[in-house]
Amino acid sequence: MNSLDAAVTDDRSTAVQPSVDSDRESIPGSTLTGGALADVGPGADLHVDPGRPMRAPVTPAASVTRGFADTGMEPGGQVIGRLAARLRGVPVVVLSGAGLSTASGIPAYRDRHGRWQQPTPIQHRDFLTSPLVRQRYWARSFFGWPRMGLASPATGHRILSAMEQRGIVSTVVTQNVDGLHQKASSRRVIELHGGIGRVLCLACGQHFARAAVQQWLLSANPEAAAAADLPAPDGDAQVAHPVVSAFRVPACPGCGGMLKPDVVFFGDSVPRDRLAAATQAIDAAQALLVVGSSLMVYSGFRLADYAHRQGKPVLAINRGVTRADHLLELKIDGDCGAVLELLALAMQRPA
Ligand SMILES: [Zn+2]
Repeated sequence: MNSLDAAVTDDRSTAVQPSVDSDRESIPGSTLTGGALADVGPGADLHVDPGRPMRAPVTPAASVTRGFADTGMEPGGQVIGRLAARLRGVPVVVLSGAGLSTASGIPAYRDRHGRWQQPTPIQHRDFLTSPLVRQRYWARSFFGWPRMGLASPATGHRILSAMEQRGIVSTVVTQNVDGLHQKASSRRVIELHGGIGRVLCLACGQHFARAAVQQWLLSANPEAAAAADLPAPDGDAQVAHPVVSAFRVPACPGCGGMLKPDVVFFGDSVPRDRLAAATQAIDAAQALLVVGSSLMVYSGFRLADYAHRQGKPVLAINRGVTRADHLLELKIDGDCGAVLELLALAMQRPA
């Protein structure tokens, strides 16, 4: 069994069936039928199960059979030049993932082989049905939020924003929930998995700023607030059990309803209107550029698959394998920020 098979197997072991909801469905024509299954940890980005078996399983061999997949940087920046040439004069949609935000201090959840590195994520259904799961989520989120809330955009976010201003990038579709594209002043951003900076009341539908909810959590949990003065566990760490079991979860101040971060959890699906907006952006663009995503998340993979089916070149900047390596016209295996910096320089030079 190769490493990618292992990763897929690991993910399936935690898979649940996606919820069925008339507002949520897969992209017509997709060969994949698994739902988007995501988790948001306290620190956190989303992770989605690959779902059911793919018609054409990705193998490591596939990643080296096309274009520059997995060949790394060529001498003299030739591959950067090729990518720059491909993007010249064409509006592209960027599909971004966790690899873009690691430079902002937000941990990625997969290694360069696409393997899951984290403990079992919270499941959407469990969040809705189990008070204990909600208690654990909010306790961990309480400690993880400061890092997320204070994170600043990295070089990669800023360059993509500048590329939007220059008409190179038409839309950013992001799998990240950290809001860093918006902080970097990107204007057209589709948050595929929602935003961790917002909290939704499931009863009355009201939205609240996550920063405000942090104050409610602080007020309701003065003991935890004292513990927060200790070195905070990062988003990956487990909060000590006594802290979790004593944690008080606030309700909606308007109606007393259940609060949920406005993100797509593992086991939930991406809302249909959001997917439609993403596919429309791809329809209107001439290429798709994947940045910092292994596309192991199904909802991301199917957009790459969709673009490929529409005859749009799919390009990628990512460290390590992607699930769509067999679809890529060109891939640069490297750090997103560093490669984007070189790309921006290359695009400023005359063709
Ligand atoms: Zn409410």
